[in-house]
Amino acid sequence: MSQTVEGFSKMSKAEKIRWIATRYTEHPEATEAVLSQYWNSDAKLQQLHDEFIENTISNFYLPLGIAPNFRIDDTMYAIPMAIEESSVVAAASKSAKFWLSRGGFRAEILGTEKIGQVHLKYHGAPEILKAFLEPLIPIFKRDAAPITRNMEARGGGIRGIELRDKTSELPGYYQLHCRFDTRDAMGANFINSCLEQFATTLLREAAEDDRFEGDGQDLEVTMSILSNYVPDCRVRAEVSCPVSELAENDNMDGAEFARKIVEAVQIADCEPYRAVTHNKGIMNGIDAVVIATGNDFRAVEAGIHAYAARSGAYRSLTQATVEDGLFRFWLEIPLALGTVGGLTSLHPLVKLALEILGNPSAESLMKVTAVAGLAQNFAALRSLVTVGIQQGHMKMHLLNILNQLEATNEEKAYMVDYFRKHTVSHSAVVEQLGILRES
Ligand code: NAD
Repeated sequence: MSQTVEGFSKMSKAEKIRWIATRYTEHPEATEAVLSQYWNSDAKLQQLHDEFIENTISNFYLPLGIAPNFRIDDTMYAIPMAIEESSVVAAASKSAKFWLSRGGFRAEILGTEKIGQVHLKYHGAPEILKAFLEPLIPIFKRDAAPITRNMEARGGGIRGIELRDKTSELPGYYQLHCRFDTRDAMGANFINSCLEQFATTLLREAAEDDRFEGDGQDLEVTMSILSNYVPDCRVRAEVSCPVSELAENDNMDGAEFARKIVEAVQIADCEPYRAVTHNKGIMNGIDAVVIATGNDFRAVEAGIHAYAARSGAYRSLTQATVEDGLFRFWLEIPLALGTVGGLTSLHPLVKLALEILGNPSAESLMKVTAVAGLAQNFAALRSLVTVGIQQGHMKMHLLNILNQLEATNEEKAYMVDYFRKHTVSHSAVVEQLGILRES
């Protein structure tokens, strides 16, 4: 049976499933059963999901959890998190509660500017390109006015257009580096539409300008696209409290705990192997909120990791200090999020997640998301510098292990109770379940 296909996208959903099941799986009937098990019985809702992407054959569920008790700038939030990894929601909730009685989280928007670029190739004299482009800037804006009118009415729009000479990095390479404010939208489509209009204007004007040879053909637009690196669309989240309020348990006083957290962050700041895992933990919180609110986690991930490497080395996204007896712990990240557009008004669970968050503006959602990342990092560091990460993680992972072993609800209840006082490991669970089943 051929494993190549023409016109796959034109097949019906049933035909697509049959095609994939018979060619790529061992038991086609079982494959069809698994896929259809995840369809929604509400045909309209299923069609909505089918139409989010192309060639849809089923829905891919992620659990949606809630981390309550987040106090952010004196507003209480219960944060929706969509994530498959056990222990993340529990860790966020634990941090939220810890900081609830220590003043809560504070967050601040440090900028809302997004970037898009028209990438150009030109091998003539740089002064000619400069003299040609500078007077064009108002014309770019005029021609893009039908696209920008509504965004300007909301207080956003084009914030600046400048020519950048990149020829030292690549011969003949220039760019129109453009700044935008897209208010409550992530803005990818708005920015790309503006940039493509700038490119059209540029090529039209070049064709009529006799400084360029052959109808402007020695000036070329390679591409026009937004950047997902948005260091000036940035948010800061912070917690602080007197060191004396940090006492962890009988074994560690507040000063020692604070010192160890600061040292852990310093290690992540100078050691990339640790920084990547440190930041991965931060992304556990950030991605979960980004996905629950229907935002583009690929864009967010790419932008944040680029920011972590802005010095030329990959470093910690969080910082911690102890000064004059005060512990401060903070996170600064670029975040391009939307609370309108994209999936935000389409996906019923996204709409609900945004409602739970009080239908926030993009700026408020940036703050909540950054706080979720900071809380996650605090929880991870707190475990790491005290009891270690596995104790809590394996407790949360226990149900996954029990599900793998097909434990019944009665067996799960017994095992959860048993492992309250015993260390969880895969082999310990297998052994204990064996004993239980034998008895
Ligand atoms: P969108 O195209 O749905 O546009 C949102 C629109 O909402 C705005 O353009 C505006 O017309 C309108 N709007 C209404 N009220 C608004 C308000 N208060 N503030 C701002 N705008 C308001 O969405 P988008 O934000 O342009 O694009 C996001 C989508 O683009 C995401 O799904 C993303 O995955 C996708 N995308 C991303 C990339 C990338 O990141 N590289 C590239 C292409 C597409």
